[in-house]
Amino acid sequence: MCLSRPELIKKEIGSIAEYVPGKSIDEIAGKYGLDPSSIIKLGSNENVLGPSSLAVNAMMSVTSGINLYPSADAMELVDALSVYTGLPVENICASGPGMDGLLDNLMRLILSPGDEVIVPTPTFSYYEIASRANGACVSYVLPGEKLAFDIRSIKESITDRTKVIFLCSPNNPTGKVLEEAVVRDILGSVNCFVFVDEAYVEFADNDLSHLVTEYDNIIVGRTFSKVFGLAGLRIGYGLMPAWLKEQYMKVSTPFNVNLPALKAGVAALSDKAHLQKSIECARSGRDYLKSKIPFTVHSSQANFVLVDVAPMSARTVAEYLLAKGIIVRDCTSFRNAGNSLLRITVGNQHQNEKVVAFLKEIKAKIKM
Ligand SMILES: *Cc1c(COP(=O)(O)O)cnc(C)c1O
Repeated sequence: MCLSRPELIKKEIGSIAEYVPGKSIDEIAGKYGLDPSSIIKLGSNENVLGPSSLAVNAMMSVTSGINLYPSADAMELVDALSVYTGLPVENICASGPGMDGLLDNLMRLILSPGDEVIVPTPTFSYYEIASRANGACVSYVLPGEKLAFDIRSIKESITDRTKVIFLCSPNNPTGKVLEEAVVRDILGSVNCFVFVDEAYVEFADNDLSHLVTEYDNIIVGRTFSKVFGLAGLRIGYGLMPAWLKEQYMKVSTPFNVNLPALKAGVAALSDKAHLQKSIECARSGRDYLKSKIPFTVHSSQANFVLVDVAPMSARTVAEYLLAKGIIVRDCTSFRNAGNSLLRITVGNQHQNEKVVAFLKEIKAKIKM
């Protein structure tokens, strides 16, 4: 017998579409009969160089202590983040699981049923999930020419019920950044929070974190999942005005950052060589991909490139690459992304060459 009682769940959950993750190695190995070790994973923007060995060692050194709760405020990690960002500890909250956990805690803190949030599309889908789960309505803003942010439409979408504007810079999946002057203009003219997602900021030319000591309504989200190569540990952090941190700490789930993650995070921040190498790898690799891929490639300031494979569908091309053991992200599930966009994480040189070779192959096939 299969029973269900949907009336026991909050009514706003019913219409939420589940988060669509990039495909995993095990899933693709099984589906295409491939050796898992031969698969190249360029679908989730992880660090292709792996984690810092300092982080791995730090994590391993505390495993016998995991019968005890970790520090309640993760102060050791907050202190290290203060050095890394140049901001006072009063402006920093470490979070788990990942930046997603930060978003969850924040939306629980900020949103009530009937509130509105603004999401410029296409973008990361967890903003709308965290907002809608707390009863907010989402205004989705269409992109402008060449997938640029349409600042005018974003501003025109603001109402007196707007509580949060989500800005992702560099944006996932477009790779585009927002100019500081544009963000300052929005911050100064609105009566709501502006959440700036800087998951990929280390790969970009500009960084907006210093604005948190200047404005009382900005929150910057960061993560250890991308440049620091610790996606499996699920650690993030938020930079925010000191008054907001006080409120945030009241509702954050206790012991938010687990012990191995906390130690690995501190060590990863100290490994400047790994950080620098990871940034170099992404920057040089994205230039290579942009110049060699035989389709339209959007300029990116992140560790991925967005490729428009029209007139083919992203699904066709993604499946062609999957069958060859290369996982890339078909962006069809991103709201307002159309069906011809493919997001490809920048790999190492060997991986990038393979991607280019297979894309040339499929392009030649459709011309025949
Ligand atoms: C990967 C990603 C995140 C999530 O980061 P976690 O710390 O792994 O939860 C947040 N925002 C964007 C834009 C991302 O691409």
